Amino acid sequence: MKRAAVLLAVSIVLVSCATMQPRGQTLVSRAVQAAGGADALAAVTTLSVRGTVREWEPEQSMAAGGEMRFACESAFEAVTDVGAGTTRIDWSRSFAYPAPRAFTYTEIVTPEAGYVAGIDSNGRTKQSLEARPPAHAMSGLRLAAAQRELRRGSAVLLLEMLKNPGRVVPVADVTMHGVAYPAVEYQAGGQTFTVLFDGATGLPAGIRTLDYDNIWGDVTYDLVLTDWQATGGVKVATTRRYELNGRLVSETKLTAVQINRTVSSDLLAIPETFKAGAAKPATGVVPYQWVLRRQFIGTYLDSDAPSYDTRAISGLRLVELAPGVQHAVGGSHHSLVVEMRDSLIVFDSPVSDWQSNWLLGALRAKYAGKPVKYLVLTHHHMDHTGGLRAYAAQGATIIVGKGNGEHFRRVLAAPFTRNPDLAARDLSRTPIVEVADRHVITDGQREVHAYRIDNPHAEGLLIGYVPDAHLGFATDIWSPGAGPLPDKLNPALAALVAGVKKAGIEPTRFAGGHGGVGDYGPLAALEGK
Ligand SMILES: [Zn+2]
Repeated sequence: MKRAAVLLAVSIVLVSCATMQPRGQTLVSRAVQAAGGADALAAVTTLSVRGTVREWEPEQSMAAGGEMRFACESAFEAVTDVGAGTTRIDWSRSFAYPAPRAFTYTEIVTPEAGYVAGIDSNGRTKQSLEARPPAHAMSGLRLAAAQRELRRGSAVLLLEMLKNPGRVVPVADVTMHGVAYPAVEYQAGGQTFTVLFDGATGLPAGIRTLDYDNIWGDVTYDLVLTDWQATGGVKVATTRRYELNGRLVSETKLTAVQINRTVSSDLLAIPETFKAGAAKPATGVVPYQWVLRRQFIGTYLDSDAPSYDTRAISGLRLVELAPGVQHAVGGSHHSLVVEMRDSLIVFDSPVSDWQSNWLLGALRAKYAGKPVKYLVLTHHHMDHTGGLRAYAAQGATIIVGKGNGEHFRRVLAAPFTRNPDLAARDLSRTPIVEVADRHVITDGQREVHAYRIDNPHAEGLLIGYVPDAHLGFATDIWSPGAGPLPDKLNPALAALVAGVKKAGIEPTRFAGGHGGVGDYGPLAALEGK
């Protein structure tokens, strides 16, 4: 009886394999036909497009879980040499967030290297800062991310799939926007793309990857393709929307598409000085969401360590600011650590669990036997909280500003099987404390305070204070030491000064989630100017 059941199961598997394999090929063949046919696609040697892009960042919102920030509006021109696998994009980008500014630059992406001419970010690397004019070789992480998205959006992806049937695997229908689409998985460049086909037209409706997001854990990232238009016998989707877990984060409109225009190879060449030392595309784990979305807001640090510039320093480090008070610095985002009698308190968990694991390791070495009991998050933005899971996993209580508790309960309940730095586990019961105005942690000797202050940066933002060191900690509303003080208080600095006054604390210095350490007196003296 049992044996018969097994045989039946085996024969069902065999039958379904036999019928499913052609289904995948049928979907791809039909899509190739719908896009103009294999001959027309094979005749594409160059592709030139012009268009616009709008981008949003969901995890830099004013309120946790609130409306996404509109980040940037761009115009671009791109040319691709299909045979060489090389693309040049000339960008003109106008950012609305975190501050209004414009960057005009060029990217060149080849199979072997990536290059940026001009300034493309506030988070500039040593190489970019030292080059005259500004330019740099892409990190292997950015190159891999650029190559992935160029492949996903390529007009000849379908032809590539047709030519590589061994890398096409049929899968069960995949739901997008409430519609079940027939789908295949396509393996290329170390990636699995799930291609969803429109039942009516046969064309791809969406191309999905399964990514890791430092806030929401396991996420879907979809390129939704619509408004297909024929150019030179080939159909190209002229509206391209990226959706993160179903939410629109980027929309590209192609306004001009030209096939087989003559393109000078000089345009697509990376200067030898940058090509020589350029990173190869990263092959291991690539934090795609971090790499792509920091570019959305123009703050990406183009380095093969997401936390710091590998061309400038060898790693992160602790700087002692007072007895038992450490500033974890060296990278783009910092934490503050306060030693208590039996435990430690950490302010902010920036970037990723990689950075948290580094800090936890450094603290184990320095303060053996003292676990991190509290992680205080100054605010919910993804760049200062993306490493919270490593602290939750070792039992820390999370302290957040009032109104942020529910957001972090949802974040900690989200599955994160694709987190490269932390094995999956249940963090949904992590204790979370909300601070309405003032929160004091004491061990009977030392006190550490957190104050919620009114501010223009994020709802429920906290500042930290260590009374015995007269040291404050602030993130994003002031980056002490990052530059000279302005002549007058801006709204963020005014909020800090008002918050300190309201709290009735007397800091002499502040350490920052960015920047370094600065004297508070000169800042307070700007009040009323
Ligand atoms: Zn922020």
